[in-house]
Amino acid sequence: MERIYFQAGPTTLPKEVMNRAKSEWDDFKETGLNIMEHSHRGTTYEEIHEQAKTLMRKLLDIPQTHDVLFLQGGASLQFAMLPMNLLSPGKTAKYVLTGSWSEKAFKEAAKIGPSEAVVSGKDTKYRTLPEMNYEPSDQDAYLHITSNNTIFGTQWPDLDAFSHPNLVADMSSDIMSKPFNVSNYALIYAGAQKNLGPAGVTAVIIRKDLLKENESLPSILSYQVHAKNRSLYNTPPVYSIYLLNLVLQWIEEQGGVKELEVKNKKKAEIIYNAIDSSDGFYKGYATPESRSHMNITFTLSDPELEKRFIKESEESGIFGLKGHRSVGGFRASIYNAVPEKSCQKLAEFMLHFQGKYGK
Ligand SMILES: *Cc1c(COP(=O)(O)O)cnc(C)c1O
Repeated sequence: MERIYFQAGPTTLPKEVMNRAKSEWDDFKETGLNIMEHSHRGTTYEEIHEQAKTLMRKLLDIPQTHDVLFLQGGASLQFAMLPMNLLSPGKTAKYVLTGSWSEKAFKEAAKIGPSEAVVSGKDTKYRTLPEMNYEPSDQDAYLHITSNNTIFGTQWPDLDAFSHPNLVADMSSDIMSKPFNVSNYALIYAGAQKNLGPAGVTAVIIRKDLLKENESLPSILSYQVHAKNRSLYNTPPVYSIYLLNLVLQWIEEQGGVKELEVKNKKKAEIIYNAIDSSDGFYKGYATPESRSHMNITFTLSDPELEKRFIKESEESGIFGLKGHRSVGGFRASIYNAVPEKSCQKLAEFMLHFQGKYGK
């Protein structure tokens, strides 16, 4: 039986990417080595390193005012690295709280320097995105948002709607899922393991005027040091970047982020329709206007039935639906690599399950 997966991350990579990596496993371009066995200072690897950056630029239309960095430590290291680099004396880091990840980012910043949560959706248990009524101040080091809230299943519908001179976004779970205007942002970061590739590499897009030398920062934590060394300050995660490069090529073959936006919207609609047409059997966690096209969260009214749902979905070859422990219920993560037919299968299963257990 074919298995399909909806995990929140790490999760499935495009089949085409896995097949290509397999075909190059023990002999990358007739070198007799896997790419991960090559020196990061050699031309064989350097070509991939630069190609991945070029493709990131092309796919997101990143302007020359911005640099692309490949770092390690996941989005979690960025929670700390961001204020270490951008929070200068006399300034305050401002945060928009829309879920667990933005709370974590805010908590880390507060350890580094003055930080303030200026907008929050916590009073709705993060079911609804808060109203963005914040006026930028000269005291702001930056304003931090989370574009897609992986755990609660909400997503800002328009990434071009924010206005701040130093806008920063954690886009770990929706980067490359739709087009947006990069020049609107001072800094964007994304751990790779949701939409970009395997864990191990984190993409950072940073406006170049923010790359300032800072003698008091350890070199490994300085954006400026990584930029100056073209993300080769220390040994990069060679294999992760190799796979990232293959995923980016795959995105290009799909027609780019514009085409993926259309596909993702369609995929999300299939599952939201199954929820909305269930007469209340399934309940969406996020309120409709805040719904994510990447992570779909829903519950059943009866905990016993929820256990049965997981068991029977797995018996039907559908995996990874268990919701995050802080929300409960279910979460279907439908990142770029999840095909539409998997979403149809899930919707069919949901209908079948309701037919069996619904009143
Ligand atoms: C997964 C995720 C993170 C954490 O990423 P790590 O790479 O594990 O540090 C942070 N922010 C968001 C929005 C995420 O989805």
